[in-house]
Parts: sequence; C-alpha cells; structure tokens
Amino acid sequence: MQQPDVFSAAVDPEAQDETVVLIVDDVPTNIQILADILKEDYRVLFATSGEQALNIAATREPDLILLDVMMPGIDGFTVATRLKEDPLLRDTPVIFVTAMGEVEDETRGFEVGAVDYITKPVSPPVVRARVRTHLELKHQRDLLRRIALVDGLTGIANRRQFDESLDREWRRTQRQGAPLSLIMADIDYFKGYNDHYGHGDGDTALRAVAQTLKAQMRRPTDIAARYGGEEFVCILPETPLEGAEEVAERIRHAVEALAIPHAASPDAPCLTLSLGVATAVEPTKASQKSLLTLADRALYEAKQAGRNRVCSKTLYSKTLASSEPPDANEEIS
Ligand code: GH3
Ligand code: MG
Ligand code: MG
Repeated sequence: MQQPDVFSAAVDPEAQDETVVLIVDDVPTNIQILADILKEDYRVLFATSGEQALNIAATREPDLILLDVMMPGIDGFTVATRLKEDPLLRDTPVIFVTAMGEVEDETRGFEVGAVDYITKPVSPPVVRARVRTHLELKHQRDLLRRIALVDGLTGIANRRQFDESLDREWRRTQRQGAPLSLIMADIDYFKGYNDHYGHGDGDTALRAVAQTLKAQMRRPTDIAARYGGEEFVCILPETPLEGAEEVAERIRHAVEALAIPHAASPDAPCLTLSLGVATAVEPTKASQKSLLTLADRALYEAKQAGRNRVCSKTLYSKTLASSEPPDANEEIS
C-alpha cells in the first residue's frame, strides 16, 4: 500500500518563504551592527521603538525578534509581554539584546518569555549561532504543528484543523455579518466498495476523492478537510448559499468524472458522493455546531433522495428566536 507523503503535504510553499528576523533597538547604530551580521542569511526588518516593533510583528509575523530592553516609550519587556498575549505571535522566539551584566534584567526577560539573551557589545559568531539555533527550533515546531493538522491518509486538513478553522471563521463571519457556508460530503456505498475491492483500493479512492475536493477550493480561505472515515467537510467563508451549492455541484461532478469503477454500487457504475450544504446567512446566537448539524441533515436528505446529489439548507436566526418547531429550511440551537 502506498504511503501518503505527510511530510511534503504538511510543508506548504508559504512555509518555505524566506526567514524574517526583526531587529528592535532605539539606537540605529545597534540595529546596523546586528543587521550586518544577519543580512546575508535572513531577510532583516527593523524597528526603532516598541510601538513600531509591535506593528511590524503583527503585519509581517517575523520568525524571530531581537529585542533591545531599554527603549523610550514601550520598553522591551512590555513588547515581549504583549507578543505573548497575541495568539498569532506568542510562539515567535524573542532574544533580548542588552548591556552586559544586568542579571536582574536577564531573569525578568526569561520571565516574560524570552528564549535567550545576548549581551552588548555583541560578538558576531555568538549572534549567528544563537539566532540559527532558535530559528531551527522554531521551524521544527512549525513543522510539527503543520503535521498535527494534516490527515495522514489523504494529505488534506484533518478534523483538528477543521475544528480550529470553523471556530475562527464562525466568530469572524458573526462579527462581520457575512454568510458562512459548510459542505458535508460522504462517499456513497463505500462499505460495499471496501468489501468488493479491499481496503487498499479503498484508501486509494479516499485519497483521490480528498484531492478532488481540495482542488475545488478556489479561495485561499476555503478549506477542505477529512471529517472522519469517508466523510469530508468544506468551510466556505463569506459565501452565500447559491455559491456554496455551486461549489458542491462542482465537487460532485468532479468526483463522478474521476470514473472510479464501483461494481458494488446499486445506483451507479462508478464512485459517487452525496453532499449537504448549509449556510448561516446572518449573525445568530446559535453555535457553529448548529450549522454543522444542518449540513449533516442536508447530507442525509441527499442520501435519502437517491445519493450522488446536493441538498441544501439555510440557518436563519429568526427561526432560533421563535418557539415554533423548525420546518424545512431552518434550525436549531
Ligand atoms: P452510504 O452511501 O449510506 O454512505 O453508505 P456507506 O457504505 O458509504 O456508509 P457506511 O457508513 O455504512 O460505511 C462507511 C464505510 O467507509 C465503512 C468503512 O468500510 C469505510 N471507511 C471508513 N474509513 C475508511 C478508511 O480510512 N479507509 C478505508 N479503506 N475505508 C474506510
Ligand atoms: Mg459515512
Ligand atoms: Mg458513505
């Protein structure tokens, strides 16, 4: 059985972009000295104040920050503390660069989350070695994290990544009032496929279907994930119902076009997919779970209606507010 290349699937091209180091110091000559040491190996950005450092960190997400302690305005300790409070920046390694011999400062630096200390005047080989070490550790952490978010069999996003993304997108679209759509997809008669062709071919078919789903995600924010077994789910942020139905139909057609023979299917000569679409059209008090439940119901209807088709439902907040039992297009808390 062919093993999936989890390693390369986990390393997206973005991750292979150049390594960015941010140097923060209120004295430009100090920046120049550090930049001269590092500029051959990394893309170097700089900031001359704590405020500027936080802005650049938020927009550029550097791989490592060299941070001066004593600065007018926001000092280095405060910058480090703020970085720790930001979920996107809290894992960015910070190395403090400070004048020799300030032992209490060192202790405080580690307390606010610095990974290392370099004392001024700096020695170029020491700076290079420490920066390299902490960048290596950071890249390893990044890689492990990406692997932890990828499904081992199919190479697409796993359930954990889906849960995290849905959480984030749900909050974002609720805040912005934009629609959010989900597509739940389930392979038709897959038990029969496994029984007839064996698990090895079953796995190969799962991979092909997963990659087909992924290929239909056209926007950078769209995500296709393996939900479990032979079920998949797509998150389509800022996408109304009609748009999501179109994507679902495109997926359905693309899987059919793979023309994977399925001799055990009572309905079709090849492997097919049933899909359920659900869209939250307006901000609601419901949780993202209700949208998931609705997509699952739409999928169930697609199965009941004969498989290899798309059914869809809309989540309205007014239905939630009413005490009426939900009807056809609706739902739940
Ligand atoms: P339906 O059309 O109603 O969806 O029928 P089904 O047979 O696809 O659904 P059911 O839930 O009864 O069976 C799902 C099957 O998917 C069970 C199992 O054999 C197969 N399956 C789940 N995960 C894997 C996997 O990782 N590899 C393989 N080869 N098969 C899997
Ligand atoms: Mg299933
Ligand atoms: Mg199935």
